[in-house]
Amino acid sequence: MIPVSEAKKHDLVVIGAGPGGYAAAIRAAQLGLDVGCVEKEARLGGTCLRVGCIPSKALLESSEKYAEAQHGLEVHGIKVGGAKLDLAAMMARKDGIVTALTDGIAGLFKGNKVTRYEGAAQLDGPGRVRVGDTVLEAGKIIIATGSTAASVPGVKMDGDRIGDSTAALAWPEVPEKLIVIGAGYIGLELGSVWARLGAQVTVLEYLKRILPGTDGEIARVAQQLFKKQGLAFELGAKVTGARVKGGKCVVEVEGKEPLSADRVLVAVGRKPVTDGLNLESAGVKLDDRGFIKIDAHHRAAEGVWAIGDVVGGLLLAHKATEEGVAVAERLAGKAGHFDPAVIPAVCYTDPEIAGVGHTEEQLKDDGVPYNKGVYTFRSNGRAMALDRVEGRVKVLAHKETDRVLGVHIIGPRAGDLIAEATAAMAFGASAEDIGRVCHAHPTLSEVLKEAALGAYDKPLHS
Ligand code: NAD
Repeated sequence: MIPVSEAKKHDLVVIGAGPGGYAAAIRAAQLGLDVGCVEKEARLGGTCLRVGCIPSKALLESSEKYAEAQHGLEVHGIKVGGAKLDLAAMMARKDGIVTALTDGIAGLFKGNKVTRYEGAAQLDGPGRVRVGDTVLEAGKIIIATGSTAASVPGVKMDGDRIGDSTAALAWPEVPEKLIVIGAGYIGLELGSVWARLGAQVTVLEYLKRILPGTDGEIARVAQQLFKKQGLAFELGAKVTGARVKGGKCVVEVEGKEPLSADRVLVAVGRKPVTDGLNLESAGVKLDDRGFIKIDAHHRAAEGVWAIGDVVGGLLLAHKATEEGVAVAERLAGKAGHFDPAVIPAVCYTDPEIAGVGHTEEQLKDDGVPYNKGVYTFRSNGRAMALDRVEGRVKVLAHKETDRVLGVHIIGPRAGDLIAEATAAMAFGASAEDIGRVCHAHPTLSEVLKEAALGAYDKPLHS
């Protein structure tokens, strides 16, 4: 054991520099703590910045422009002939954005005097973290190690032809036929990217619906729209195996003939990263799904806190960030606040899908009485100008109090529109509060206003 006198001392050591860990480290440093942050990858930012949210959004934007150049501009009276794909340039642009942002986090660490350690950390008893031969001592430790792609037993991922999202963000050519396993966020976002670039995409989903967890009405509209874009869906299809054979991928589905494809994307969820952390040494425990057990204040054991994907809940970058900031503030003696009930979720397909709060199914299951207001983008002037009239906004409010319980959107810029609903819910707004707020005209946000009016009275334009 390395003597305590040789250990490096900090007030707080954060393990993991993803959106949860880096936010916690920076916030704690801003509040005066001496902070060390350990990250095993050379680049900071975690899955989100390196191989998740950011590179996928870069490819979603680029592929949308390519699709628009091919068949989305004529309606505007613009004829563009012969749009050509330069996949290498598209990938290089994506990589440039990732580099700029990961470098940005390194700059923020320097600016806020967060000490960075590169390597895989493990707990080394209470108050100690080991990184190779280096021992760090801290009265406070935050675990923010995130999650990694799950797989299906029998699916042999070779990291290339049959791969997870990391592989599918860097394929060197457009597959002629792509099979996506799983109709969640990753399957639909990356399936959309490759479909727009020319792949024939089939999505295999175990459930009888797409986008589990999303409001059912919104998911049904989404499926219809994705079908129109050329995505094929096989619902109730349980994949039991996949392998590369003779240069092709063979995918086995329970009770059906095997399917053949050039590439396969496995997008069946994510699992927490806890291997090798030596959690027992500090008394940290896991629940039956492998997530770190925490109390209401994110405390996992004496002197140890945990945040982000590794503790479960919604596996979303911004949820991890909110948790990281709240815990950092509490550790610095402030009243850190985190509300798991008001976390927006966005799927960046075209159109985008966004939601916050309860879905209609959840309200029904819980027996909560509610009113519902739905308004479509079809008659919205701005949506018409954008030539993006598909979709709707749904506002769910309590039948007696009118308090907004959930807002669900499929439509243009849904990911931006959900911010207003989130802010309103965070302040405990009623549907009438949203309906009586002046919304600029002509904007897409007027559809939210009309849906709110519809929840407690009647949309004006109805
Ligand atoms: P997911 O859990 O959202 O969806 C996985 C889907 O795979 C489910 O519908 C499931 O029924 C299906 N599935 C599982 N096993 C199967 C099998 N054997 N055969 C066929 N289908 C099967 O998971 P994901 O899409 O991989 O995303 C992982 C996590 O990352 C999610 O928690 C998601 O919220 C998050 N994420 C968020 C965003 C975003 O915010 N825009 C983007 C990407 C990922």
